[in-house]
Amino acid sequence: MNALAQRLARAIRREGPLPVSVFMTFALHDPQSGFYAAREAIGAGGAFVTAPEISQVFGELLGVWLLQVWRDQGRPANAMVVELGPGRATLLADALRTLRSDGEFLDTAEIVLVEASPALESLQRERLRDGSTRLRWVRQWSDVPRERPLFLIANEFLDALPIRQFVKTERGWCERTVTVDALDRLAFALAPLPLPLSIPLGRGVAEPGAVYEISPGAEALVEDIARVITNRGGAGLFIDYGYAGKGFGDTLQAVAHHESVDVLASPGEADLSAHVDFGAITESARAGGARVLGPIAQGDLLEALGIEVRAARLEEANPEQAIRVGVRRLVDPEMMGSLFKALAIVPQAAPAPPGF
Ligand code: SAH
Repeated sequence: MNALAQRLARAIRREGPLPVSVFMTFALHDPQSGFYAAREAIGAGGAFVTAPEISQVFGELLGVWLLQVWRDQGRPANAMVVELGPGRATLLADALRTLRSDGEFLDTAEIVLVEASPALESLQRERLRDGSTRLRWVRQWSDVPRERPLFLIANEFLDALPIRQFVKTERGWCERTVTVDALDRLAFALAPLPLPLSIPLGRGVAEPGAVYEISPGAEALVEDIARVITNRGGAGLFIDYGYAGKGFGDTLQAVAHHESVDVLASPGEADLSAHVDFGAITESARAGGARVLGPIAQGDLLEALGIEVRAARLEEANPEQAIRVGVRRLVDPEMMGSLFKALAIVPQAAPAPPGF
């Protein structure tokens, strides 16, 4: 057992089992041992690789998207660009190259990075150091000012927010918890008392053993963002892996050094994430008053934004680089192109954003 697992085991013996969401929060954000407390979390040398780390075209095209929605909404002079969970800041660095093509946008917009991890914030500051743009960091979404038109992007952010899991038993839906077993290891268990849940009708019939997941944090966050966009203008783009529709399942996963590992074995040493429930997110955005578009496949969005043309141009300039390999990984439905999905939110009266 690592140090964090021992600390959690002590707390569980003292106070009882933890909901999965609380375990996830400690494993990801514990200030000493949490996964995101380390700078090396993401990228080739880290636990997992994200789309912007695969190809610069990804961030560049999201820059195109941001510019276009800003123009579609009449080029508001006081726009705020927000990225949730910028990771290694690769996406933003690539997007900024596109955004710089419109001097008016960058002269007037402020860019806010929402980053929970002090270690990743310092890495982001180093990587965005050139200083030509106004950047600001905050630790959490609730610290972002909400008086201005909001242009927000979030790639692989919602999947990192904690989920609660419920398992269908003869007694009803019981919450899945993390406890300590007879051999003193962290182990999954079920809360004894069932909870009354209202499962969306479209999910279908739950057999015994079915797992139902909710992410209260993701839902509240998206509703709040939708409310700001509805009231102040702007647009939001969420890209993540996930599902929309029928069925049940346990999607909590742990990844370390690009391999899938046991969720409970070494908390803080592996990334924990869960598939995003785009159906729930859509409901939340609508509750916030916004117009919701998608989810559509990531591959379709990138193609509509012109990934082929951009890749061809880059290839001409750098024939030795494996541009096509990266682009294919992002677009091919067998790779990231269809498991990854994009959902956009805009005010009710705004035109559909590019690609949707
Ligand atoms: N968007 C990046 C990184 C994704 S990893 C990319 O595509 O490469 C998730 C990021 O979200 C990390 O930067 C992590 O530290 C941050 N993060 C996770 N939970 C957060 C929270 N609740 N508030 C703010 N940042 C969070």
